[in-house]
Amino acid sequence: MFRSLRQPEGYAGKCGYCDFQDVCGGSRSRAWAVSGNYLASEPYCTYRPRRPDSDRPASNTYRENHAETGALSRDEVADALSAPPS
Ligand code: SF4
Repeated sequence: MFRSLRQPEGYAGKCGYCDFQDVCGGSRSRAWAVSGNYLASEPYCTYRPRRPDSDRPASNTYRENHAETGALSRDEVADALSAPPS
């Protein structure tokens, strides 16, 4: 069980192919509470990651959709999370 929790690429649904799976991964407890499967996709997340087999343009990514809001990119989020608290 703990090994599967540490491998977000094995999650079902959109959390399994999301751009942010390694910095987010969604709530495993909410997935379990709603679906009975702790590896299911996060039920309350409104983000719609691009499916790997989709021909939807790459511009439909979080970064592109939120560029005007100043939201952080995936790499910026990863850097912020790995930085020691100041
Ligand atoms: S952003 Fe949403 S879809 Fe992506 S990993 Fe997090 S909860 Fe899942």
